[in-house]
Formats: sequence, C-alpha cells, structure tokens
Amino acid sequence: MSTIQGATGEWEYVIGLEIHAQVTSNAKLFSGAPTAFGAEPNSQVSFVDAGLPGMLPTINAHCVEQAVRTGMGLNAEINLHSVFDRKNYFYPDLPQGYQISQFKQPVVGRGKITIELGDGETKDVGIERLHLEQDAGKSVHDQHPSMSYVDLNRSGVALMEIVSDPDMRSPEEASAYVEKIRQIVVYLGTCDGVMAEGSLRADVNVSVRKPGDGYGTRCEIKNVNSMRFIRQAIEYEARRQIDILEDGGSIDQETRLFDPNKGVTRSMRSKEEAHDYRYFPDPDLLPLELDPEWVERVRAALPELPDAKKVRFMSEYGLSEYDARTLTSERPSADYYEAVAKGRDAKLASNWVTTDLFGFLNRTGHDITDSPIKAAQLGQLIDRISDKTISGRIAKEVFEIMCETGQDPDAIIEEKGLKQVTDTGAIEAVVDQVIAENPDKVAQVQGGKEKLLGWFTGQVMKASGGKANPQAVNEILKAKILG
Ligand code: ADP
Ligand code: MG
Repeated sequence: MSTIQGATGEWEYVIGLEIHAQVTSNAKLFSGAPTAFGAEPNSQVSFVDAGLPGMLPTINAHCVEQAVRTGMGLNAEINLHSVFDRKNYFYPDLPQGYQISQFKQPVVGRGKITIELGDGETKDVGIERLHLEQDAGKSVHDQHPSMSYVDLNRSGVALMEIVSDPDMRSPEEASAYVEKIRQIVVYLGTCDGVMAEGSLRADVNVSVRKPGDGYGTRCEIKNVNSMRFIRQAIEYEARRQIDILEDGGSIDQETRLFDPNKGVTRSMRSKEEAHDYRYFPDPDLLPLELDPEWVERVRAALPELPDAKKVRFMSEYGLSEYDARTLTSERPSADYYEAVAKGRDAKLASNWVTTDLFGFLNRTGHDITDSPIKAAQLGQLIDRISDKTISGRIAKEVFEIMCETGQDPDAIIEEKGLKQVTDTGAIEAVVDQVIAENPDKVAQVQGGKEKLLGWFTGQVMKASGGKANPQAVNEILKAKILG
C-alpha cells in the first residue's frame, strides 16, 4: 500500500480494473469471419458482423472453451448456466445497435489471483466475474478531411471482460495485477496479451479515501493500453480527486480518457448506469449450458500455470524464489530452462540461462523462442564445465564465440584448443618456470606471506592461456613452495 500526501493528511488509493482481453480464436464470437490483426479494412466482416437485418448469431464453441479455461486460470467458479444479453447503445462502429454481452449471468463467477509485488511480497486480488462479449468496430477520423470511415474488422471479435474487486491500493499493485492477468492468459493461450495491438486493455477505476473510511466515488478511465500509462493515469487521477475533495468539492462519477501525451485524464461522459443500456436476454441466442463432464475434461487438460510452475521449480530444481519467478514468467523461457536443466546441475543451468543467455538475447533483440543458441547447445556447454573439460572462465569465452558464430561448444573447444590442462606434468613445468623467475616472491611466501600464492596462481594461469585447471595449479604451487 502506498499513500498520497494531501493538504489535509494522507489519502489512500482504491483501484479496481476491468480488463478486456481478446480471445485467441481464428473466428469471431458469433460468426465465422476471420480475426487476424492488421488486415485490409472491412475485409473480415460477415453479414452478422455488419449487423444486417435478419442475420442470426451462432455461438463459437472454441471461444466459450477459451473463456472457461481462463476462468479456471483465475481460480474462479465456472457457471454451467449463463446468458447472453443485448446491451443497447448507438455508435457508428456498432451497426447492430447493441452489443451482445453477458450481464447478470456471466459464464465465469468469483475467482482470485495472487499478484507479485517487489521483494517477494504477494497479495490476493478478488475477481468479481469474467464474461464474454463482442468487440465493436473502429471509426477512423484521420483519413479524409470531411468524412469519417468505419472499419468493421474488429466488429464481433470475442472479448473476455475480467472484472476485479476494488482491491488494489497503489499504481504498482494495479500494474502488477494487469501483468499477472496477462501472464495467465498468455500461458493458457487464451489471449496473445499484446497490449500494443489492443489485444489486452484496461479500464481503470480510481477513487481515494482517508485510511479507514469507506469507499469514495470513483472515476473510470477507459482503454488504457500500457503498464506505464496505467500507473500514470492512476497517479494523475488520484491527485485530481484529492485536490477537488480538499477544496470542499465532490467527485462526479464519470468516464474519463487518459491522454498519454499530456499525462492527464479528461472527462468523456458522465457515468452511465446499467438501466441506460436496457439490457435484456438476446432472443437470438439460447442460454449457454455447459456439460459438467466437459468442464472437467477442460480442467484436466489445462497446462501448468505460472504459480504452480514457480513452486515446482523451487522444489524440483532447488532454485530461489527470485530465479524461479524469472524463469517461469513466460512459458517459453520455462521450457527452455527445463530442457537445459534436465539431468544437469540445475543451479548452474539457472545462472547460465538467466544471466548469460538472457543478457545475450536482450543485447541482440532476440526472443527466447528464436534464440540463436539452442537449449541443447547451452546444455553441452554446461556438460563441459561439469566434466571439467573447461573451467567456468573459459566457458564464458566459449559462450561469447557461440553468440557470434552459433557453433556447438564442443566444436569451439576443439578448434580453439581450449581443453583444460589437468595433466599435472604440463602444469608442473609452468609452475617450475614461474618459481624460477621469481625467487624473491617465493621467499616472501615461505616467510609467511601466503596471500602471495594467489599471485602465483594468476601467473601460472596466464602462462597456460587460462587452460590450466586452477585447482591443480594451487595444489602444485603449495607443494612446491611450501613443501
Ligand atoms: P459498474 O457496474 O458500475 O461498472 P462495478 O461494480 O461492476 O460497477 O465495478 C466496476 C469496477 O470498478 C470494478 O473493477 C470494481 O472493482 C471497481 N470499483 C467499484 N467501486 C470502486 C471504488 N469505490 N473505487 C475504485 N474502484 C471501484
Ligand atoms: Mg461493470
């Protein structure tokens, strides 16, 4: 929790979010039209999506399954009986004159997720519901001096609206919540989570109160589409409300827009109430009845989710909470790590993946799914450290060459002659030479300055081009100088 200092004392944030997540599906919620992003305007519109009179919607079973799977990922109740309603309003990008949504009986009921805050802290956030609804089209105002266009490609695309309880108490908690929802839907493959393409966007409800007071009047900031904007919008909005309240005013419940260029929210319209939409069950659609056995089959087929995976990584591989969280934040990195770690030193594998590999991927702008260094190659490198073919230091060199050339570690070690020298005869020869060249330092070590042994180790390692086994070098040096 973080508080805001006002002229009259401390204030607390109260934040609840409504997230719209586009369902990953090749077809729309009630028509067979395709849903690909970025297609030619109005090229993906069926008669149903264009709202032509007499067209009948047909429910897309895949979209329902995706919503149910998401509900399970939110630890939520799955409602076996739910209803599609018409939400009536006029807008040029809504040719039907109503949006098909779910109102009183959504497909998914109450749930709960755990969000991760800094320094390993967690917090539970209640989920009020998840319902299915259609997206609207898009009005285009900047293509013609005196006309607006409409692009109906998005019209009818399936959305999941996920409504949280007003449980968040800081801008950071709000963005951690969105991050967690995004992680869950991406793991499940129910939404691609790409905020920049509008696949996941948040309506942010903000109010303020004095600690201990009841909830204040909230404002809803529509369609915020990045984590940073969410935090900025909340900070601005809370401050605006505090200023009004401290001036003796009151908050009008309204819908506002965030302007990312100016960092401010401004009023869009006064709050509309449910009755303004005159919701009623859509007579074109039967209630949605789910077979309990089907629901259990869907549950049984769910992939392992991030929280469970994190716990397993900690117990199975002995990783710290931090490393386990980093590795499981996305499914492909978890899969990559497991491919490297299986049958190997799991902690060493974690260090190489989170530090060296992630560093390389970040530097070169690669995603783990198209990593030029394959899990098998990194595994081979770790094998060569474990079987003492190379030292950890030489391994870093080999890794650099792997980054540049994509070669296998074994090929690099062979070609560059990087095999660690464990042959004591060869090491002894180098040690003898270094001792012969530095009689004064030898005397100092013998006189009790044992710290200087480290200097000798360095010299021998240097003379061997870093290839001598450092442990063997130490032992031989000690034996020869100290007897
Ligand atoms: P409505 O039906 O008017 O949209 P809801 O009760 O569905 O209202 O709430 C919408 C969102 O607003 C939810 O995410 C909820 O957590 C949040 N919310 C409700 N009350 C407050 C409040 N006082 N301050 C901040 N957020 C709130
Ligand atoms: Mg609502």
